Amino acid sequence: MNLNLGKKPFKSSPRPTYTQPARSIQELQERLGREKVLLELAQRRNYSYDGIAMGVTPALVVLPTHTADVVEVVRFAQRVGLPIVARGAASGLSGGAVPIQESIVLSFTRMTGLSIDPQARTATVQPGVVTQQITEQARPYGLWYPPDPASLRTSTIGGNLAENAGGPLCFKWGVTGDYVEALEFVDFAGQVHRLERKAYDLAGLLVGSEGTLGLITEARLRLEPIPRYTRTLMAIFGEVGQAAEAVSEAIAAGAVPSKLEFMDNGCINAVEDYLRLGLPREAAAILLVDTDGDDPIVVEEELAWVAEACQKHGAGVRVAQDSAESEVLWKARRSVSPAIGAIKPKRLNEDIAVPRSSLPAVVRAIEALGRQYGLQVVQFGHIGDGNLHPNVLFDPRVDSEEKVWELLHEIARVALRHGGVLSGEHGIGLMKRDFMREAVDPGTLGALRRVKAAFDPHNRLNPGKVLPEPHSPED
Ligand SMILES: Cc1cc2nc3c(=O)[nH]c(=O)nc-3n(C[C@H](O)[C@H](O)[C@H](O)COP(=O)(O)OP(=O)(O)OC[C@H]3O[C@@H](n4cnc5c(N)ncnc54)[C@H](O)[C@@H]3O)c2cc1C
Repeated sequence: MNLNLGKKPFKSSPRPTYTQPARSIQELQERLGREKVLLELAQRRNYSYDGIAMGVTPALVVLPTHTADVVEVVRFAQRVGLPIVARGAASGLSGGAVPIQESIVLSFTRMTGLSIDPQARTATVQPGVVTQQITEQARPYGLWYPPDPASLRTSTIGGNLAENAGGPLCFKWGVTGDYVEALEFVDFAGQVHRLERKAYDLAGLLVGSEGTLGLITEARLRLEPIPRYTRTLMAIFGEVGQAAEAVSEAIAAGAVPSKLEFMDNGCINAVEDYLRLGLPREAAAILLVDTDGDDPIVVEEELAWVAEACQKHGAGVRVAQDSAESEVLWKARRSVSPAIGAIKPKRLNEDIAVPRSSLPAVVRAIEALGRQYGLQVVQFGHIGDGNLHPNVLFDPRVDSEEKVWELLHEIARVALRHGGVLSGEHGIGLMKRDFMREAVDPGTLGALRRVKAAFDPHNRLNPGKVLPEPHSPED
């Protein structure tokens, strides 16, 4: 299957050629329980896509409830020679959970065990726990789990771990991997491993491995005390680059805001059309900023530093007077995805990360590229981390998808030229795997291939993701 990203890369699959001997499937059903193995075509089809791509209908779908079930499935897969694709909530935006050949999809949504240890300040979770649940269960103890992908109400912690998910709070508080104390995973042969973060930090390697090295079945996550004070401001800019300049300035001055988010004019107007929250429609860009902590004076002081940096770069600043006003501003940010989704029939979401010092040049270059291609590009993102999500909005009846993909590649190239990386948080998956040749040198690609081969010698775990297909046996 050639998934050249210069072309339209994904297409709906034909019916799968389902060839497994009925006896071995029956055996699996008997071992796990019939309800955990989905065989009907209509059911299996529901497991062929994620947030961006449609792949091949899986040969069968298994819904494990325990690590022992996962072990059974891996052994079954070995016997019948099928690859395994791990799947959480399928909210991924890089095609990671999409099967691209006849496979077993292992859907973790029924592995939802979650326990809080308030003394140790940890949460022990199975992979199917919905991210937001962790803070909800921890809050009665005055604790929280800070990493907050915007999809936290639907995405699973297994998917977050496999993608090393980030979110608005991650500038100050760190990303998913920073909270992992220990990890359990099942390897390609069905062996269970329990890893602490000691020498040869294999747990760290599993985080962000996108289902290609092992199947994560449990994690112990660090929790933090909930900060006592939070303040919010909105800074309104007349030019996008100025917003990016203000970010660098505020951080260089020593401010560590807990959230530092960017929305351009296209996003502001999309949200206004969608919800009418009173955002400044005429602004070229806004920054939404939170500072937090236990000392109200420090929290205020940090907010003042950010306000000053924004004003220095021409912004008008509005400080939220109470938590209700702050909630309205964050509602605006959370609504960007559905709001821009309503502008045109289709959109493709980029996910690049660049050094903060490059942000002004990068946001301006992306604006210019949109004009050059005659396509609407809107930009938002976790700008404190240098993580931007330029979205290309289009109507397939009018705009050529080929051109859209070309533009997305050009945006990725802008990031690479400015010392950035292909993905800030959504992962490489299928969408960007062929781009890896441009992003990493051949020696590094070789090292990555050797890591994959050490963990998965028969290439059975999420094959065809992250690493481009070799051009030659030496590649
Ligand atoms: C509206 C919207 C907003 C988003 N905002 C953010 C954001 O702010 N930050 C961010 O980081 N992402 C964001 N995302 C992307 C997505 O939600 C994240 O990548 C999330 O971590 C995926 O979780 P999931 O449970 O849906 O995983 P899936 O999409 O099901 O899977 C993602 C990858 O993880 C692997 N995987 C899943 N479970 C396991 C497991 N148990 N063991 C091994 N591998 C596994 C899969 O094989 C796949 O490669 C957003 C998506 C949407 C739709």
